[in-house]
Amino acid sequence: MQKESKLTVGLGARAYDIHVGRGLIGRADDILGDMLADRHVVIINDAAVAPLHLPALKAACERACRRVDSLTVPSGEASKSMPALATLLEDILALGVDRDVVLVALGGGVIGDLAGFAAASLLRGVDFIQVPTTLLAQVDSSVGGKTGVNAAAGKNLIGAFHQPRAVLADMASLDTLADRELRAGYAEVVKYGLLGDAAFFEWLEANGTGVMARDDAALAHAVTTSCQAKARIVEADEREAGQRALLNLGHTFAHALEAVCGYDGTLLHGEAVGTGMALAYDLASALQLCTGQDRGRVHAHLAGCGLVTRLADSPAADASNDQLIDIMRRDKKARRGQMRFVVPRGIGNSFVSDDVPEETLRTVLDDSR
Ligand code: NAD
Repeated sequence: MQKESKLTVGLGARAYDIHVGRGLIGRADDILGDMLADRHVVIINDAAVAPLHLPALKAACERACRRVDSLTVPSGEASKSMPALATLLEDILALGVDRDVVLVALGGGVIGDLAGFAAASLLRGVDFIQVPTTLLAQVDSSVGGKTGVNAAAGKNLIGAFHQPRAVLADMASLDTLADRELRAGYAEVVKYGLLGDAAFFEWLEANGTGVMARDDAALAHAVTTSCQAKARIVEADEREAGQRALLNLGHTFAHALEAVCGYDGTLLHGEAVGTGMALAYDLASALQLCTGQDRGRVHAHLAGCGLVTRLADSPAADASNDQLIDIMRRDKKARRGQMRFVVPRGIGNSFVSDDVPEETLRTVLDDSR
């Protein structure tokens, strides 16, 4: 069995630990101790994850808690909606909860974002714990306290900052995850190397195949390093006034690609981020901010892991430049209609730019077709 690691997100009164290791779900009572002792726990779980991992979590909670309930939410992005949130809140209230309740999110980013927002709004804010079961959720969405649901006008437009009380990233939960989902989550792992840690990117170049093959030690190292990177950024800029925006490397492109594909599983968020990061390096190279060699390394690594690096090969390939640019202008990160990009200066160093010339952007999109 692999060694467990524990990292702290240092946010003063809202500080919490991220536990990474194998078999943590079944030992949640030992690991979380006082956080569960004698509490009323409501586990919010993804319908596909419940048969796989709920029994172990429930058994562990039952050893520690006064009462344990579980509520199942249908899998998929459609559950991150106002109607689904309303149903969930009513169902939780129907259990007769008070402010001592702890919500536990068991699933991927959809469940974490939904249950987190439910926790932020229920009785004006109750405790919640993240038990992320996708690689994407382990390295990204479960850490940092961004919670919310989608609106008709766009994704993640309704939400709140509400930090979890703890995160349990159990490597064993990834054993049941589809390869495609693992690959999509891997794009977010690569992001941490590219935006601020060249040595980690080098490590991924050497060990990425091990991570994708679910080698336990490689996977745990990738998750721990990613969580460390995210924790440091969140500590420095909890509410995204500055540095936290770097986490959006590749995301201006990715959000446009996802929007034209319609969030129906045709293009997964992480897949879009993979293509978006490749395009961000194309853009940086066109702006002469990064070398062709660095751009080539990024493309080679992403493609070697099975991620799409060219617009021509993306399910969003048929979208016109006008269509994509129109969505980028309306991205929630844009300011006064100015598109906002995270632009890499080589590998391991990036910055936020509001003044990318549209002409260059069009050339980059054309060259990627
Ligand atoms: P997801 O939650 O939809 O999970 C992906 C699929 O995997 C689902 O079909 C689910 O049923 C299945 N699944 C989950 N865990 C499994 C397991 N262990 N075994 C088998 N199947 C499993 O998607 P995701 O990629 O985890 O998260 C995407 C969401 O996260 C998006 O809504 C995105 O906006 C959000 N997100 C939020 C943040 C944040 O900071 N809050 C950051 C990045 C992404």
